Amino acid sequence: MRWNLDNIYKAFYSDEFQKDLGKLQILIKEINKYVDEYLDDLEDAAIKIQTYLKMNNEYRSIYLRLQSYAELRTSIDGQDDEAINMVDKIDTINNEIITSFTAFTKWIKDIPDIETVIGSSLYLLEHRFYLCEIISKSSYLLDEKQELLIKRMQSTGSRAWQKLYMSLTSSAEIQIVINGIKKQVTLGELKNFEGKNDPEIRKLAAKAEKDICENLSKSVNACINGITGEANTICELKGYGSVLEKVLLENRMDKQTLEIMMDVIKRNLPIFHTFFKYKGNLLGHKAAIPYIDAYATIKKGNMKVSYNECKELIISGFQKFSQELSNFAKRVFDEKWIDAEPRKGKGNYGVTIDIFPIKESRIITNFSGNYVDVAILAHEIGHAYHSYCLRQEEILNTDYPVSIAETASIFCESILNQELMDNPHTEDKLAILERSISDAAYYIVEMYSRYIFECELFLRRKEGMISVNTVNEIMIESLKQAYGDSVDIETMNPYAWVNNIGFYMVGNEYLDFPYSFGVLFAKGLYAQHLKRGKEFVVEFEQFLKMTSKMDLYNVSKSINIDVHSVDFWNDAMKMIEYDIKKFIQSVKD
Ligand SMILES: [Zn+2]
Repeated sequence: MRWNLDNIYKAFYSDEFQKDLGKLQILIKEINKYVDEYLDDLEDAAIKIQTYLKMNNEYRSIYLRLQSYAELRTSIDGQDDEAINMVDKIDTINNEIITSFTAFTKWIKDIPDIETVIGSSLYLLEHRFYLCEIISKSSYLLDEKQELLIKRMQSTGSRAWQKLYMSLTSSAEIQIVINGIKKQVTLGELKNFEGKNDPEIRKLAAKAEKDICENLSKSVNACINGITGEANTICELKGYGSVLEKVLLENRMDKQTLEIMMDVIKRNLPIFHTFFKYKGNLLGHKAAIPYIDAYATIKKGNMKVSYNECKELIISGFQKFSQELSNFAKRVFDEKWIDAEPRKGKGNYGVTIDIFPIKESRIITNFSGNYVDVAILAHEIGHAYHSYCLRQEEILNTDYPVSIAETASIFCESILNQELMDNPHTEDKLAILERSISDAAYYIVEMYSRYIFECELFLRRKEGMISVNTVNEIMIESLKQAYGDSVDIETMNPYAWVNNIGFYMVGNEYLDFPYSFGVLFAKGLYAQHLKRGKEFVVEFEQFLKMTSKMDLYNVSKSINIDVHSVDFWNDAMKMIEYDIKKFIQSVKD
């Protein structure tokens, strides 16, 4: 149940790793030199662009291999100092590429009739989307010196705040007493308690979480002010209307899509409120449900599966969709791409890291034999499959935004859920259904609250520093707008912003709404699959192949989906509403 990383590197001190690290530095210098020497006029533009792209594909291939190896190592052991330092070292080396990237962008945007230049070479045509994206973003780029200066200043600015945040929240402890026994716990450990079945323990954990967050709030408030303030400043300098505008551009999503989706979410929130209220009743709450219970599990499945059975379930479930997907899943298991063994120091989550240079991925998960673990693995293999569909592409053509990244994963999870639903234990069926609804609720309702929170935060930060009290008020107001009267307001944690790493990821603002998009989009696609059957399989694989070379609107169109249509989003919501009704009915029966 441990993975094999040998195909990437055997160790940091291995010849291969050291050789590539040296090569990375040389390549970056060469690219910077090439751009400096040759891009001073527009003559032979096609040849120059081609040379630049080829050099960049080579550099990026080495960078991603080095970086993913270091990242994989830190992901399974937060105490691996060698790996943590290496991530930092690779980052620092890589920062220098910004000089040539900025200069290239400034140069290419001035080429008249760029479409004709691109059309003159097959290699350039292959990179058309990549080049056009650079040109469309070029108006937001400052000059080389300013861009490099920002990157360097960030390591003592926002990135230093982020590091401080990480250190504060990962080391803070609080004492709790369970069954008369005193215990020191961290925020991470409390998260695990909160999911526990005993309502008293959940309550205790929620109180402890609030206390720890309150204790940290002054220092973390400095972090959130530092990070959001810098993001506002950089976006303003670069000419973005707002931080959100930058995020939309990065997600290849237009404003219309976001507004339509958010409007549909807002109007459908009562569907989820019904679910939370019903859950509250089941748990014996007379009034609204306490926040901590909103995502607690009511129906626990009895199913226990071995790792081998999990493998068989996924392979056979995926086979009902396509042989290729099933073969791929088998390969993931057989070639040891998964680190599934629960161990200390490993994060308690599922994650997939793609290593395009070797056309493979690696998956981290904690497998303890519950049906949930099977669903998580199916989800993660979905992520890996998405990248596998892009294996023929050049490295520069393998990027796709978060919003689209959740499509294949949630889709594969839905296939697996269907397979699990066919098993005979009613209790398990209800548990699977509940988890599927709870997940959707989390990605839609909870993320809606975070979207409102961040919008307000960036707006208020423009006016100056924000106090702890004000951030608390924004937090509660956002939660109220998302949960309505279904959750007891007295139980909402005004300091919840302290324990949400997403607000502190420098350069990755608004991490949440792309997930809402992903969930609803994947539900909508799954509805299409149910309607259209086999013919959909080919279209779906074709669609995944296009995701790195088109914007959201057009790539959706390629699979006959209009993300500007209210009906599409409503249909996706109806799938969740149907599940909620089915769940309530089944529990009553
Ligand atoms: Zn995912």
